[in-house]
Amino acid sequence: MNELIDPNGRRVDYLRISVTDRCNERCLYCLPENYSDWLPRAEILSDDELLAVVRAAVSLGFKKFRVTGGEPLVRPGVVDFIRNLIALPDVESVQLTTNGTRLPQLAQPLFDAGLRRINISLDALDEKIYRAITSGDVRPVIEGIKLVKQLGFPSVKLNMVLMRGKNDQQILPLLNFAAEHDVALRFIELMPVSLTEMLSEKNFLPAAEVYSILKHEDELVPLTEPLGFGPAKYFRLKKRGVTVGLIGALSDLHFCERCNKMRLTCDGKLRPCLGNHLETDLKPGLRPQIDEAKVRELFRSTLSQKPSEHLFRHNYQPQRVMTAIGG
Ligand code: SAM
Repeated sequence: MNELIDPNGRRVDYLRISVTDRCNERCLYCLPENYSDWLPRAEILSDDELLAVVRAAVSLGFKKFRVTGGEPLVRPGVVDFIRNLIALPDVESVQLTTNGTRLPQLAQPLFDAGLRRINISLDALDEKIYRAITSGDVRPVIEGIKLVKQLGFPSVKLNMVLMRGKNDQQILPLLNFAAEHDVALRFIELMPVSLTEMLSEKNFLPAAEVYSILKHEDELVPLTEPLGFGPAKYFRLKKRGVTVGLIGALSDLHFCERCNKMRLTCDGKLRPCLGNHLETDLKPGLRPQIDEAKVRELFRSTLSQKPSEHLFRHNYQPQRVMTAIGG
């Protein structure tokens, strides 16, 4: 069995794949105002190219894959792509991160394609607050969450990015919503990962503050078994019977210790760390024709440079927008 171990002794087996930089919402923390620097379509990897990267990754020891973006569900043919990804030999887990706006149309086709694990971004329940943060309409997202539960997706998690003064009043409504619909809720600290006006000290709401709010509200029981493959710390809220995760990307000094990930941008750059500018262009292994041996070699050299931790606490200045990198 192949295993990839990075220079810091961490086993790396999880690839996040951004399938598009396009999005049908404009979240405050994700895209700058009047952003128009979209990648030319020809730069975005085709399904065949993405699947070739996954095959190369699997042959090296990657097992888990997350489809993200931009908004992955706006990519034409994304359901077929996910079906083909799931069908690849030795792919153990395929997950999707979506803003949920297209789930009313696509939840059933995605379920039929074999998808079972889905994370849905939901930064507010209140229509006005949701619109102020995302520029979109929360109603299809709520409809989509209900639908995935009805269809029986076994793993459904909600992601809330924490912004002081913007959605802190939505923490308890979201908690009650998650309990009512039997889904896990994850609170994510704002990260300096994208070029946007939002990223300032005054908007930062640390996970520890959410922990205090939750503790005041309910009895928190730490989960001993990890839920999923990421860095969140999970708790069960005894009274409400809901699971919550805290993702302290900036405040948790141990955040990177078990990092098992690499990221593929939608234009074929492999990133060994979200909070670092290092990236390797895989296109020489994909164009003009696919050369999986070359892609494997590029994976190995990128892994050998995986930093021990992100640079978020060192005045890291993102140079790309998050939609291209894939959250
Ligand atoms: N469009 C999809 C969505 O909204 O879920 C997938 C892409 S989005 C970039 C993936 C995740 O990254 C979302 O949960 C989003 O909230 C999170 N994210 C984006 N920018 C972030 C930031 N600056 N800090 C923390 N999380 C961020």
